[in-house]
Formats: sequence, C-alpha cells, structure tokens
Amino acid sequence: MSASRHPALSATDPELASYVAAEEVLQAETLRLIPSENYVSAAVLEASGTVLQNKYSEGYPGRRYYEGQQNIDRVEALAIERAKGLFGVDHANVQPYSGSPANLAVYLAFAKPGDTVMGMALPMGGHLTHGWGVSATGSWFRGVQYGVRATADPETNGLIDYDAVRDLALAERPKVIFCGGTALPRTIDFAAFAEIAREAGSVLVADVAHIAGLIAGGAHPSPADHVDVISTTTHKTLRGPRGAMLMCREEHAKAIDKAVFPGLQGGPHNQTTAGIAVALHEAAQPSFVRYAHAVVANAKALAAALLERGFDLVSGGTDNHLILIDLTGKGVPGKVAAKALDRAGIVVNYNTVPFDPRKPFDPSGVRIGTPSLTSRGLTTEHMSVVADWIARSVDAAAKGDEQALAVIRSEVADLMAAFPAPGLPLS
Ligand SMILES: *Cc1c(COP(=O)(O)O)cnc(C)c1O
Repeated sequence: MSASRHPALSATDPELASYVAAEEVLQAETLRLIPSENYVSAAVLEASGTVLQNKYSEGYPGRRYYEGQQNIDRVEALAIERAKGLFGVDHANVQPYSGSPANLAVYLAFAKPGDTVMGMALPMGGHLTHGWGVSATGSWFRGVQYGVRATADPETNGLIDYDAVRDLALAERPKVIFCGGTALPRTIDFAAFAEIAREAGSVLVADVAHIAGLIAGGAHPSPADHVDVISTTTHKTLRGPRGAMLMCREEHAKAIDKAVFPGLQGGPHNQTTAGIAVALHEAAQPSFVRYAHAVVANAKALAAALLERGFDLVSGGTDNHLILIDLTGKGVPGKVAAKALDRAGIVVNYNTVPFDPRKPFDPSGVRIGTPSLTSRGLTTEHMSVVADWIARSVDAAAKGDEQALAVIRSEVADLMAAFPAPGLPLS
C-alpha cells in the first residue's frame, strides 16, 4: 500500500518507506487525544510536499536576496493576506520555522539579554519558551513566572489569578509578558492581560499556538484587539503544516520582520508557507467555524463524561479543546496511565498538574484534547465511549490487566475504521 502511495520513496528507500507506511497505519487505527496534534487535509499535505522545497528566498515578498521569486512571492503574499484576513491583524509574518523560534524572534524584537520577561510557569501550564529556566529564554533573560490559583473554592481553583499577575508585573516591570500556554483548559482573558501590560509598560504577546484554530473559527475570543503581538504555531487546532506565524499591529511590523529575518533565520521553508496558505484558506470556510465549535463541544462532553466516572479535572472542566486530568485520586501516575492508554490505542501525553508533588518526567496527570478526533468526525455522542475507554484503561493500568487493554485497542480500531482521518490513505 505504501508502494502505490509513495512509489519513488518505496523504490529508493524501502526501509524509510516502511516506517512511513507503519505511521500511516498507526495514525489510522489509534485514537489521538494529544491536544497539540491534528490531521492536515490531503490538500495541505500535497502543498507541503511540492517543489517549492527547492527554492531559496531569504527576505520578504518583493525584497529578496535571490532571483527567481516570481512564484514564491505569490505564495508567501497569499499566505500573509489570508492570515491578516482570518485573524483581523495589520501584519503577518509566516516565516518562523516553528513556535519556539517564533517566540525567540519576539524576544529578539523587544528585549535584550538579561532583561526581565514574564510568562506562565511551565508546571502551571505555560510553555518552555515563556522564560522557563531550562529554555534559552529563561537563561538569556530573567524569567519571572505566574501560575494558577490553588483554592478550596471549585469556582476559582486552577484558574489564572489576574490580581497576582498584576502584582508580579508591577513589581518586576517585565519588557515582555506572554499569555497563553500548553495546558490551559480555560478561556484566556486577553483584555485583563492587556490592562496589566499597559500598567506595567510591557509588550504583551498572546501565544495562541494551541487555540489558533478555535480563534479562527470563533470558538475562543480573539486577542487581536488587545495584544501587541500574536504568536502561533500553524499545526495544532489550525490544522496546517508544522510551522508558525507572528502577527501584530503595523507599529511593530518592522521589528517583527527584522527579528525573524535576518535576526534569527535564513531562508523560509517555502513548501511549508504553501501548506500554511492552504490551511488558512480552509480555516476561512464556514465548515471550519463548525469544526472549531465541535472541538469545544466534544471537549465539554468528554470532560462531563470523565467527571461522571470519578476523574479529577484541573479547573473542574474545560472551555476549549483541552482537558488536564489529575490522576492522584486514581492512584495511577500519569506516565503509567499514558503508557497503558497507548497500549490500548489511545494516544495521550503525561503532564504535570498545577502544584504537582511529582517530578516533571513522572508527573501526576495526563493531558488530552479533542482536535484530532473532531477532525475525524466524532461527535458529542461518542464522548461517553471515549471516557469509558479512558476509565477502563486507567483501571487496567492499576491492575496490570494487559488483556483488558488489548480488548480496548480492538474496540478503538473498529470505531476509527468508521471515521477515517483527513489526509490518511487507509480508509
Ligand atoms: C506548541 C507550542 C509552542 C511551540 O511550538 P513548537 O512548534 O513545538 O516549537 C509554543 N508555545 C505554545 C503555547 C505551544 O503550545
């Protein structure tokens, strides 16, 4: 099957081709709950694998350091126009190689080494690149970090404490404040962050890598009117190829562009730019509005079904695509649960929970999300069976019942066969 789908690859490098074919089968047969993953469409996949790969184009449309840009300029200009239209921004840079380099470019644009920068702490749900110690951003800059509340009140427990964010910002006066993260199940109040950044005199960056598709589809408020810069990956809820974009108001356009190139990068990956352009086109269709809302509806239904089955969810539920399960009460560490779920054909990642007493490489939680299963067409009706599989897998992990995991794996494969993923050839 791989030989017919990738004939040249199979002939040239059968070993590598076999790995790709095996990955196609794995993606087809398993239930992918990692909230930062998705399936790109066949059109995005095609655009990302074109001869645009062969072209060097340092610079920006109309201002390149290499000749022969007649078509590349059109591709990049199209991606830029579509990003501006979809997110309602003055300026878009579609060249960052991925989310982490995009954020590095933001630091380069607005801070000097040693400056104070502020973001959410990694174990609270922030991203490495928001000034966390093991990241270059936390060693080249002085990172100060905020977190979420730990209260007895279930209404506020696990939510960002905006008063504490303000106190920290006014005490530290950071050059740059990042809002957004990788394990935040609740809506981000961009207006509240904007007020704080204004008071502190800080540049405010919304890193919407996880929720860009929800914003594009109107299922999460947009930061466009509140922040200085929007940073996003293109490959999570947005359903594009692996890449990133930086968007901003006109006043910051030059600084952002200069930081990406020549500040940080060389030639843009034009085949990726093409894939981003296609994904942005798809995200501008009415069907994508339905997709984004379905992602959230599925996550809420899945959260409710998990609560019914006695799971403890950070912040008590979700407003978006993401659910963080604290497994402490189940007596199963996150890593043990994640590995058991993997054997049951359910792919998640283990994750720290706020105030986790366990180590980051062996934490108390698992992080799940609904972008991928929604791309396959699963609806709220399916979420109780998904919650059942998770509950049974965690039970089986506690008991060491491999037989139960094998049974779940075949049930998962049956449902997945009925809902083929976009871009996968194995339906
Ligand atoms: C995924 C993510 C990134 C990093 O993206 P990479 O493409 O993995 O470098 C940055 N910020 C946030 C909030 C993310 O979720």
